[in-house]
Amino acid sequence: MTILVTGGAGFIGSNFVLDWLKTSDEPVINLDKLTYAGNMDNLASLKGNPAHRFVQADICDADALKSIFASDDIRAVVHFAAESHVDRSIHGPEAFLDTNVTGTFRLLEAARHAWGPNAASDGRRFIHVSTDEVYGSLDPDAPAFSETNTYEPNSPYSASKAAADHFARAYHHTYGLPVIITNCSNNYGPYHFPEKLIPLVIHRALKGEPLPVYGDGTQIRDWLYVGDHCSAIRRVLEAGRLGEKYNIGGFNEKTNIEVVRAICALLDERRPRSDGQNYASQITHVRDRPGHDKRYAIDAAKIATELNWQPAETFDTGIARTIDWYLANQGWVDRITSGAYKNWMEKQYT
Ligand code: NAD
Repeated sequence: MTILVTGGAGFIGSNFVLDWLKTSDEPVINLDKLTYAGNMDNLASLKGNPAHRFVQADICDADALKSIFASDDIRAVVHFAAESHVDRSIHGPEAFLDTNVTGTFRLLEAARHAWGPNAASDGRRFIHVSTDEVYGSLDPDAPAFSETNTYEPNSPYSASKAAADHFARAYHHTYGLPVIITNCSNNYGPYHFPEKLIPLVIHRALKGEPLPVYGDGTQIRDWLYVGDHCSAIRRVLEAGRLGEKYNIGGFNEKTNIEVVRAICALLDERRPRSDGQNYASQITHVRDRPGHDKRYAIDAAKIATELNWQPAETFDTGIARTIDWYLANQGWVDRITSGAYKNWMEKQYT
């Protein structure tokens, strides 16, 4: 049997596929539209591997989905494909509605029709990968988000993910589709597109460019190393209860400015600037994003107690691994920081 991964050329999806094929005999169909965020370079090490079949397709395309389900005996869907960048959702929300809501709906429909009413007892699984941003913003002293928090999405991105979560949940309750939803905190690690905070700061620091920090930089996020997210999803796929939601987090709450300073300090050690200055001197504060959520924090107790999952990395070990990966893979960064991406970045930060 086979697993179908959507969005497997993106940041988390490609980490998941690489990790899966290292440790499992079950082949992967990797379905990705290859938007600006999809990068086949991430999958270069799988060239010629018969256990990996790449299909360029849009999850909104019902016919393409139907033929993929008809082409193989798909045991599980792990659904990452999404428009994922909050800033882009502010400037152009419609693509988020199309991919994240309509695309998820089409994928649920395709699985429902292909698998039929006995999908759950046949051992099929549909893992819908979502975000902690669906819960909204937390006050500084409030307890971290648990699975029972109400949904209060604040950006077009989180609203579209929230809508998709509701469809996924409804397909379990209405049609018995074997859905499990995961809501994860901010990921970081290898193959992260350099529009997101951590790779953006590493990339711009090394180029000697200003390091943009929104507002005063006191927004708090919970950070999880991407390899830990992948191991959590595998655990949910193995043993998660159908129809349930699992929060996934790293117990690493940090302000954005703390994260930026930690990256600067590690770069000062590993790749000192030639002029003897510290990288932190490149930090500049830019106008805050509209409606910027103040704090997200995940209570990952349910997945820990029920499924015995724990993150392997602390923030200190994960960020050091990440920086070492970027330093060793500057060619990967250079190849994507050109063309359309470069033009977009220039509009954002100059
Ligand atoms: P990403 O933007 O790096 O990758 C998304 C991938 O989906 C890309 O390869 C893109 O080409 C593909 N894609 C986009 N639209 C598509 C479409 N219509 N049809 C098929 N493929 C399409 O995103 P990511 O950071 O890897 O996030 C993956 C998933 O995890 C998303 O669902 C996101 O909401 C969720 N998530 C991300 C984080 C995070 O910190 N990055 C945290 C929690 C949850």
